[in-house]
Amino acid sequence: MRGLCDLLFPPRCAGCDRPGALLCPQCTGRIERIDPGHACVACGAPGAPPCAECGGRRFGFGEARCASLLRPPVSRAIVLLKDGCERRYAEFLAQLVAEVCDGWLRSDDVLVPVPASPAAVRRRGFDHALDVARALARETGVPLARALSGRPTAEQRVLGRDERFANRAHAFALVCPQTTPRRAVLVDDVFTTGATLDAAARVLISGGCLDVRAVAVARSCSLVRPQ
Ligand SMILES: [Zn+2]
Ligand SMILES: [Zn+2]
Repeated sequence: MRGLCDLLFPPRCAGCDRPGALLCPQCTGRIERIDPGHACVACGAPGAPPCAECGGRRFGFGEARCASLLRPPVSRAIVLLKDGCERRYAEFLAQLVAEVCDGWLRSDDVLVPVPASPAAVRRRGFDHALDVARALARETGVPLARALSGRPTAEQRVLGRDERFANRAHAFALVCPQTTPRRAVLVDDVFTTGATLDAAARVLISGGCLDVRAVAVARSCSLVRPQ
């Protein structure tokens, strides 16, 4: 199926738009990966403690890892996946996440995708974080459970930091309280303030989950300067 898709719709590089690959070798080399050994344990932002990005805020999840900074070409690949419906990027982005999770995921973890809002799923026709989480499950062998469903909320992009936390507080519901995983790793595309992942984690904990961690493809940092 993938081969046929590539034949009919040849991929173009998310970084330089050249045909031939979803990301060419040169642009792959430009990815600003985050080394988890030199990143905030709580929010995944690069840098030594104390973390300037999260300011020591306590989240509903215990730890977070992010694969790269939210800068081109990764930011462009995420836009192409979400708004360009170029779903082939899910696998590529999941591979980045798998690299940053190497040795960190445990055999009894369950991957839980952060569901997009019902309006976004209707608009796109698919849930991008679910695509990434499915690819991550294939890549790592860690099982996936769609333990959360999305509820309608205001658009996060137009809100400030504290407003985002308030807006997100009721964004999710448990799909089946009886089958909430004991150890969950939330999967999302972008970590900005952490409000979305925080809300998702608190709902899982309310359902009996004992340990929640989080992974995101990219960390949106306001204080880390471009290289
Ligand atoms: Zn390129
Ligand atoms: Zn932090």
